[in-house]
Amino acid sequence: MLTLAGLATARGLASGPVYLYRGDEEIPVSEYVIPVGREGDEFMRLKKARADVGRDLETLIGVLSERSQDGQDAKVFEGHLMILEDPILKKEVDKLVVENRINAEAAVKKGIDKFRKQFQRMNDEYFRERVRDLDDVERRLLRALTGFTRSNHLELSSPCIIVADDLTPSETVQLPRDKVLGFATNGGSTTSHVALLARAMGIPCVTGLGFVTQKVKPGALVLLDGNAGTITVNPDERTIADFAELVRKQHESEAALNDGKPAGTLKDGGEVKIFANVHPGVPFGALKDMGARGIGLYRSEYLWLNGEKEPDEETQFEAYKAAAEYVRNLSPDAHVTIRALDIGGDKTVRGITVKENNPFLGNRSIRYLLSDKDVFRRQLRAILRASAFGKIEIMYPMVSCVEEMQEAAVVMEEVKRELDAEGIRYDRNVPVGAMIEVPAAAINARAIAKYCKFFSIGTNDLIQYTMAADRSNDEVAHLYQPTHPAVLTLMRHIIRVANELKLPVSVCGESASDPIVGVLWASMGTDVLSMSATYIPLMSKILRRLTRRDLDEYKELAMSMQNGETGSEILEACRKWMESKIPDLEALLI
Ligand code: PEP
Ligand code: MG
Repeated sequence: MLTLAGLATARGLASGPVYLYRGDEEIPVSEYVIPVGREGDEFMRLKKARADVGRDLETLIGVLSERSQDGQDAKVFEGHLMILEDPILKKEVDKLVVENRINAEAAVKKGIDKFRKQFQRMNDEYFRERVRDLDDVERRLLRALTGFTRSNHLELSSPCIIVADDLTPSETVQLPRDKVLGFATNGGSTTSHVALLARAMGIPCVTGLGFVTQKVKPGALVLLDGNAGTITVNPDERTIADFAELVRKQHESEAALNDGKPAGTLKDGGEVKIFANVHPGVPFGALKDMGARGIGLYRSEYLWLNGEKEPDEETQFEAYKAAAEYVRNLSPDAHVTIRALDIGGDKTVRGITVKENNPFLGNRSIRYLLSDKDVFRRQLRAILRASAFGKIEIMYPMVSCVEEMQEAAVVMEEVKRELDAEGIRYDRNVPVGAMIEVPAAAINARAIAKYCKFFSIGTNDLIQYTMAADRSNDEVAHLYQPTHPAVLTLMRHIIRVANELKLPVSVCGESASDPIVGVLWASMGTDVLSMSATYIPLMSKILRRLTRRDLDEYKELAMSMQNGETGSEILEACRKWMESKIPDLEALLI
């Protein structure tokens, strides 16, 4: 039996056999000759790929050395780093590029192949074992050079727990929901897109396990605790029985919540509206049961991530229409907020996103849509057409300045005129809003508000950009602080501007679902908390124990701490306050 601790990424408990997804499929490489005079550029491309891979390996080694007692895990990657930097191998590959003018990927393949053959011929077991290390280094280099992501070759015949190095959003979204009991991955963080998807799909998930793919065998029994962030491999009978008891308690506590009151009801009868975040491609099924009053974030880009190319207008229209019709039976004032295509960063789409040095600061989201207005127009047409079938709101992701809102408004007007000319019905007053997730937009919220009917705060990105801490890198997770005074200052400013202007404001980042932080946003004056549906019952449990007066007190406390205290001190004070109101808080969080 072996228990591993990682990050509690998506709540829930699951047990089942391991499906080991190593993703070591062949990466297709074609060979071509580099034109005379361009070999220098090609050599630089090779050097950059080597540097990228080297940096990744060093990070991995650092993390693993800290985590494991004997440092064995890190040693494997130290071996990979040595291969990457081996002077003979380097010379061989460089020569193919610079002298033979062969493209870098083909040169890597040829160079490594030569070594592989030599190793395979050796009688020594040690060298034969090193062939796998060569394969790994080759795969890393080829991925860095080609931007290759695995094709979807996961074939699941029966329910299982997927154990993988990492999964891309498109790999995750294409999995059959009924066959996946849980996810356990080496890498990732709590706000990476795989994590968000797992939450939306209601699938328990533990990430950041470091080395789990090397520690489990296909078919082994795993108990996965997405609340505590642990997995137990090959559990003994006692542990299996304890886990079954935990599952029973969880069901009991969910059933206790079914008292007919809407989700988000406060102890004194007041209400904090709770909406759901959804990914198209994942069935809406449980939203109503979970208590969602509407859809506060429809991540439209998953229509792109599901396939290889842009979904045509009809496909988009059908998807948006289905969402608009669905929300009608959630609550009388329900709407779905469709977010325009938010690609870039870690959400790559073949044929659309290009390789950038800094994808999180690149041509992504609204910037991309304004740089390819045909794609934007097709999407707006589809959304507007769907608005005839239910209440839709539209929001633009990653807005940084007023000009983007102005330019988007011009495109919107053009599309409306087109639809008018064609006699197509749509909601002329469809509300348009901005996601506030870039610090510049937060600071300049008052100016941006002039072009908005609502704000939706994307704390996943707002925290990442405020703290300059990659949301998917667990190495800098300590800096990713929702209660950092700088984040609180921005949040207070955005909410205050919205409240003064009577502009509805919601939070749709994952922090909305955090019992300590989400309640803080509500206390500060947000109108809606929008979260993965599986987190609604927990938030409801917490809110049912608090009154509006409690929320006012909570806000006072957080605001009074803004000057001087650290993010973790503020978080700790918030937790203590919450425990003073809800003494059994710990038990609720299990
Ligand atoms: C956010 O940034 O908080 C957000 C909701 O958008 P995403 O997580 O899809 O980037
Ligand atoms: Mg975002």
